[in-house]
Amino acid sequence: MDTCKILNPTQSEVNSMATKQKLPFIPLTESQQSAFCRTDENLLVKPLAEEFSAVVSWQDIPEKYHHMPGEELSTRISLARQELGEKLVILGHHYQRDEIVQFADFRGDSLKLSQQAAGQEKAEFIVFCGVHFMAETADILSASHQQVILPNITAGCSMADMARTDDVLDCWDDIQQILGDEKIIPITYMNSTAAIKSLCGKNNGIVCTSSNAKAVFEWAFERGNKVIFFPDQHLGRNTGLKLNIPIDQMLVWNPFKPMGGHDDEKIRDARVILWQGHCSVHTRFNVRQIEKARSEHPDINIIVHPECTMDVVEASDLDGSTEFIIDKINNAPPGSKWAVGTEISLVNRLSQENPDKLIFCLDSIVCPCSTMYRTHPAYLLWSLEKLLEGEVINQITVDEETAKYAKLALDRMLHEI
Ligand code: SF4
Repeated sequence: MDTCKILNPTQSEVNSMATKQKLPFIPLTESQQSAFCRTDENLLVKPLAEEFSAVVSWQDIPEKYHHMPGEELSTRISLARQELGEKLVILGHHYQRDEIVQFADFRGDSLKLSQQAAGQEKAEFIVFCGVHFMAETADILSASHQQVILPNITAGCSMADMARTDDVLDCWDDIQQILGDEKIIPITYMNSTAAIKSLCGKNNGIVCTSSNAKAVFEWAFERGNKVIFFPDQHLGRNTGLKLNIPIDQMLVWNPFKPMGGHDDEKIRDARVILWQGHCSVHTRFNVRQIEKARSEHPDINIIVHPECTMDVVEASDLDGSTEFIIDKINNAPPGSKWAVGTEISLVNRLSQENPDKLIFCLDSIVCPCSTMYRTHPAYLLWSLEKLLEGEVINQITVDEETAKYAKLALDRMLHEI
């Protein structure tokens, strides 16, 4: 059996790797967040050993994969994939590198991919090239004979990590005590742990994605007077504003302060309580970048993801989910110009696939999502070659009780919205 350790970890992080089911909590430092930013837009794959030299907290894998060049990795992944045949399905999130996406049987956002996974009955192994919460959702929605694998166990999501289960449970208890019988509906963004989805399922709540957040909020306000939204304050605030909820009726819950930093009266007066979380990729965009793009290209279309801050969304022409952005740009007329506020791997791919349009990222310093980026092709190859040897590595499973209520929250979104 191969050793399974994290590079540059604390001892407790190493110990936590003993379980193949739990994601070790590895906070991103600012230097790790920007370790892969480029100014020359060169995001081509480098051997794993070179990536490790940026002092990353990635899972270690056998030495033989460390120096393998990109071409060899690609050839061997193709061969392994062929050999595994219908037993295998590879899912690739839009924010993955091209060197991964080229092997994906399905490409999509987190919800679309989990639904695809659930529809692949012949597949025994679902290799999810995305991040941990996505693999959890795939496990919840897939059949019992299917095993979900996350090639690099440290591929988490910094936003999802900002809502730790204990903090969320404490917040929920505090709010219940203050509100008494008043009905508050918990909503969690797809980008959250199964435990938080489960809390929502148990308490008449629901899951949302960036494409249906407005409809989900409307659903919730038909059933309660207030909403609490985890973990992305920006998506929550942007959605509240679309429903004409005044900004002073939305408060931010800071998990590091008693009662989220508010007195009882403020909590009673609020219509929306927003968890203090954010996406480190989408909060890089700012209004100055939009002004610059407009001054250089007067006929530019600015399109951004609603995980961006409120002022960025307000200054843009369009905002919407990853699928919305892809759809808008793919169907735009030739010659149109687009400055895009979302993850760079997707923006680069859109630009390559639409050579008749001008498409560029709002941020000139090119920063991929550093946790999506952790799925280097060496990890994909390692996970597939292990399957050929009869071993399942990095299986993601959600315990039965958590899965039951998380599925309830997911099903409300899938069937009632
Ligand atoms: S882009 Fe943001 S929300 Fe998506 S996985 Fe990366 S950190 Fe998480």
